[in-house]
Amino acid sequence: MENQGDFRERDARYYMPAFSREIMIVRGQGSRVWDSEGREYIDCVAGIAVCSTGHCHPEVTGAICEQARRLIHCSNLYYVPGQAELAEKLVLRTGMAKAFFSNSGAEANEGAIKLARLATGRKRFVAFTHGFHGRTMGSLAVTHKPAIREPFLPLEPECTFVEYGDLDALRLVMSSDIAGVFVEPIQGEAGVITPPEGFLEGIRELCDRHGALMIVDEVQTGMGRTGKWLAIQHTGVSPDIVTLAKGIASGFPMGALLAREGLEFRKGEHGSTFAGGPLACAAALATIRVIEEVMPDIPAKAELFRNGLSRYNPRVRGLMVGITVGERCGEVQEACAEKGVLVNCAAEGNIRLVPPLVITPDEIGTACRILREALAVGNKPSVTLS
Ligand SMILES: *Cc1c(COP(=O)(O)O)cnc(C)c1O
Repeated sequence: MENQGDFRERDARYYMPAFSREIMIVRGQGSRVWDSEGREYIDCVAGIAVCSTGHCHPEVTGAICEQARRLIHCSNLYYVPGQAELAEKLVLRTGMAKAFFSNSGAEANEGAIKLARLATGRKRFVAFTHGFHGRTMGSLAVTHKPAIREPFLPLEPECTFVEYGDLDALRLVMSSDIAGVFVEPIQGEAGVITPPEGFLEGIRELCDRHGALMIVDEVQTGMGRTGKWLAIQHTGVSPDIVTLAKGIASGFPMGALLAREGLEFRKGEHGSTFAGGPLACAAALATIRVIEEVMPDIPAKAELFRNGLSRYNPRVRGLMVGITVGERCGEVQEACAEKGVLVNCAAEGNIRLVPPLVITPDEIGTACRILREALAVGNKPSVTLS
């Protein structure tokens, strides 16, 4: 373990400076984490909606350790322990037909691009403004944010961006050469932005009319985050493809592609060395058992956030919370950390909270109180935050 203080210098010297960060988190339990100086935080970031079962849940840690002692890796050249069982569990809970695993959300979306191209014989995609689908070249091609995509142009596949929520605009760009439409049911990286009523249903209708696939990116919203396995299950919409990752295995790297009946990779069409390995599957199976237990409590926990932050017009969808604070977002984030709560600034000046699904009512109460204090301080520009 690195000595306190050493890691910042070493990081500056040896690690590419792609991130901006202050603290090192060295331990976690439930919804609490501790930094290298021993300070405790209530974690409303949860590895960005990843640590769904909290940190080091005994059921998950136990499953990983037990599997690590038996078999860590074997390759998809062989049947993988837990893989089919996990596929079955995901499919039965989501109303989809078949699964394929990956190592991340971006990779799940790469799979979706490939599957849509194979299934339709078309090459072009449509996605939405402020949408985020990953940073690999293909997933970046369907990601909107100009600052992260423009340095890498030209990108493939070709993608047309339409204002999120604007069905009329979508209607104008749909045609018989669109392979698929990528959409987040709630935009997470944009700051927990929800679409207008009927938007997702409208996409389904337009995709059907033009023979395009509706690809619902549930990398952030899936696995119980909104109180159902998928956010799209709050609507009556059946997608052609769903992608999952973040919350699927409590922090063990994993992603998944789920497809409706009749959509599948055939022999040799896709693959991966690590994807859906025994450790990932064990972690995901344990994660599902824990989520199953806590999911019924999510609406009540959402209500606690809604009430606790009502003064600030929060957007609350299960345990996804967004608050627009504008320019002082960074200050608020810092003030919260100072007072022992981790939150983060998503895009466009939005504070985002995506705590572990196991967060307790007391922890929600404390997090809301501290966030209110931070927001109140942030309102007075004369007060400086150390
Ligand atoms: C985080 C995220 C991704 C990318 O996942 P990675 O595992 O970082 O590749 C894709 N889509 C959405 C909606 C996300 O929130």
